[in-house]
Amino acid sequence: MEQPVIQVERLSKKYGGVHALEDVSFRIEPGEWVAIMGPSGSGKTTLINILGGLDTPTGGRALVDGTELAGLDEEALTRYRAEKVGFVFQQFHLVPYLSALENVMLAQYFHSMTNETQAAKALGRVGLADRLTHLPSQLSGGEQQRVAIARSLINQPKILLADEPTGNLDEANQQIVLNLFHELHAAGQTILLVTHDPAIGRLADRRIELTHGRLAQIISLGSEEEVRFDHLLEDIFLCGERGTEACVQEISSVGPLEVNHLLGHMAELELIVRNDSRLLLTDRGRKRACDLVRRRRLAERLFMDTFAIADAEADNHACKFEHIISPELDEKICAFLGHPRTCPHGHFIPPGPCCRKNGSADAATGAVQIGQAGQFGHGEAER
Ligand code: ADP
Ligand code: MG
Repeated sequence: MEQPVIQVERLSKKYGGVHALEDVSFRIEPGEWVAIMGPSGSGKTTLINILGGLDTPTGGRALVDGTELAGLDEEALTRYRAEKVGFVFQQFHLVPYLSALENVMLAQYFHSMTNETQAAKALGRVGLADRLTHLPSQLSGGEQQRVAIARSLINQPKILLADEPTGNLDEANQQIVLNLFHELHAAGQTILLVTHDPAIGRLADRRIELTHGRLAQIISLGSEEEVRFDHLLEDIFLCGERGTEACVQEISSVGPLEVNHLLGHMAELELIVRNDSRLLLTDRGRKRACDLVRRRRLAERLFMDTFAIADAEADNHACKFEHIISPELDEKICAFLGHPRTCPHGHFIPPGPCCRKNGSADAATGAVQIGQAGQFGHGEAER
């Protein structure tokens, strides 16, 4: 197994009588994007500062890339900061009398040698090729933060530590900066990002939650993100069913900040194709959406007809059920209900393999039609 980039064991930090951090343990694998979350005063900055070698713990250990930080003297810590970590702060922290280019070159200087071409290239990567000679005061907040990101990456750090990096930015610039983080993550950069914003936290692979300096929980986003994919796939499918074009503005089940990130992932996984703002399902995406819609509508039938559960409540249960019904259970429910063709609201239920096995010619037609989801209106077929 690969060695973790960060390993924190029972880490504590006391300021006088205040426990800023208490007994915190976790590990972070190479290439992970982890969000550190928690209310103000919960110890997030303290944790990031210790990992960045800006502060020292009063108990426990922190290993970064195999180096134990407590064992480093001042000089070794300076080296460590220059070589292993890149910092991005809420307040940018650029040197006001140096140009964008010189600010990036300053970080090179502390690391080894300055290289103007490389520094200019790094600014180009964050979209600032035409701002090299600008002073921080001549740049917008979003541009200043992008200079800070270029500076943090110039020495190819093992980890990128970001403390509320979008805290001082408007929504458009937030999006630009978050897109940069997304690109860095895709390129394999390990990222530790402090945020109090749940929407930004959800962009990460995992969230580590602190309360009063203690670890509250670690949440892996694997399954949570899959559920979000499912909702978006269904939204796109339902647009097709209604005969409207699916576009980013139409699908509303998640906030605008997350939707681009999620759709990007879904395109990488070949579930959808993006055509300007239009969203199209691939064969894989359509198959998955079809299965979801089928399970949801079968569950609605089951809850309303068999268990006589009221409409709103049945919807609510069905919505959760669609993610947990196995293919076997799906077939059993479908057979039990007599392979119904519509849900209680009159919508078409995409047929499953069991319906086709059941030999219904209608079901076979349905399977073909579903390939061009869009023609199914209300109440076309009765049970
Ligand atoms: P967060 O970033 O989650 O808002 P911090 O890590 O900044 O929290 O602070 C955690 C706790 O430690 C707070 O109660 C804060 O007042 C205290 N604290 C942080 N830095 C210092 C310091 N240098 N001296 C004394 N107390 C501090
Ligand atoms: Mg803080």
